[in-house]
Amino acid sequence: MQGYVKGKPLFTSINNTNNQYSYLTEDLETDVVIIGGGVTGSICSYYMSKSNIKSVLIEKGRIAHGSTSVTTSLLQYELDENASELIESISSKDIVRLYELGLYALKEIEKFVDEYGNKCDYIKRDTLLYTSKNLEKNSIKEEYKFRKENGLDVEYIDESNNLYGFDLKAGLLAKKGGAEIDPYKFTNHLLEVSIKEGGLVYENTEAKKIEYINEGAIVHTSYGYKIKAKKVIVATGYNTSLFTNKNFGSKYTTFNIATKPVKEIRGWKEGVLIRDNSDPYNYIRTTKDNRLIIGGEDIDFKEIESEEIAFEKYSILEQRIKSMFKEIDDIEVEYKYCGCFETTKDNVGYIGPDKKHNDLWYCLGYGANGILFAILGGMMLSKLYYNEKDDDMKLFDVNRFDN
Ligand SMILES: Cc1cc2nc3c(=O)[nH]c(=O)nc-3n(C[C@H](O)[C@H](O)[C@H](O)COP(=O)(O)OP(=O)(O)OC[C@H]3O[C@@H](n4cnc5c(N)ncnc54)[C@H](O)[C@@H]3O)c2cc1C
Repeated sequence: MQGYVKGKPLFTSINNTNNQYSYLTEDLETDVVIIGGGVTGSICSYYMSKSNIKSVLIEKGRIAHGSTSVTTSLLQYELDENASELIESISSKDIVRLYELGLYALKEIEKFVDEYGNKCDYIKRDTLLYTSKNLEKNSIKEEYKFRKENGLDVEYIDESNNLYGFDLKAGLLAKKGGAEIDPYKFTNHLLEVSIKEGGLVYENTEAKKIEYINEGAIVHTSYGYKIKAKKVIVATGYNTSLFTNKNFGSKYTTFNIATKPVKEIRGWKEGVLIRDNSDPYNYIRTTKDNRLIIGGEDIDFKEIESEEIAFEKYSILEQRIKSMFKEIDDIEVEYKYCGCFETTKDNVGYIGPDKKHNDLWYCLGYGANGILFAILGGMMLSKLYYNEKDDDMKLFDVNRFDN
């Protein structure tokens, strides 16, 4: 298997994806050109429009058909690893700040939905980090203490107050610490709003070459049309080779299965977003139409050479969800898919200018909460356009791991 996404993704299958955008047929001049039409590029397009910055977004394939089509879209403020595991790469003060920024990004999505309507099945959720292993109880307790001491709204759960139907030795419940969305609908809604405000969007239009000029750059696209812009935003997800030979993080393949809608979701209190404490971890959510999605079983990106490996992983995930939710007796898997996923040493993505080309900016939501990082990126980059540097942008510095 090659490429970044494989299988039959849930969200592009259940939605009407006929919403086609045209391709570029003329030369253009704009303030910002955004390369990549996934959720990240669309978030950038929305924030540019909101700040009265003219933008053109180009997507080489179809809008929201890359990693965005397979994301489970669990939006959680926490990072992939617990604070105690990250301490060598990032200070505890910065971890707390990142948690706060995650919560801030969640509020931004809520504001968007309040202002423009809930067209993306947005639901605010509590999030649960738990373990079924006695050996890992301390790790959960430590993370609970860390968050509690730092003012986050968390609750500790153990066997004595476990209201979930599955085996739980220790758990950390983050109140209103997350949300779920349909990423396909969210991406298209962001673009709908942006286009109304003057943003331009083209699909089937690939950036082939970037020509750096005195101020800004010219993006050469497929079929020869050019876009001249003051700034270029790279929102191409896990494929950045056109812009830099920098190795941004470690690539993995992660697997998902989604069930058919079940009659009743029993033993799963209030649709809480679930993540276990294993390495690699499993992540689990429900959908508005009563499906269950479970993901995980990550392997090194290079390791996936045959469909057989993927089917083994899907089968493990199916067994896991069935054994966790024994009260749900009509679990039937309908969609199976996997995709590339990239993370960094400190679990944080990249936002900001390239070292060599000042007018080339990155918005790369690497790490488990890529979508929330993209929200922060859209906000920070739209401020940067007006030379206003956000203090928190240093946490996402593109060159922070350079010697
Ligand atoms: C199975 C799975 C589950 C995940 N679950 C979560 C989750 O629960 N929560 C979360 O926050 N994140 C999750 N992620 C990560 C998640 O996918 C990302 O956070 C997010 O969807 C990435 O969106 P993106 O727009 O950055 O990338 P993409 O959707 O891949 O968009 C990048 C786009 O750029 C286009 N492109 C590339 N090169 C060019 C070019 N030269 N010219 C024009 N266009 C170009 C591509 O075609 C692509 O459409 C998951 C990932 C996987 C694989």
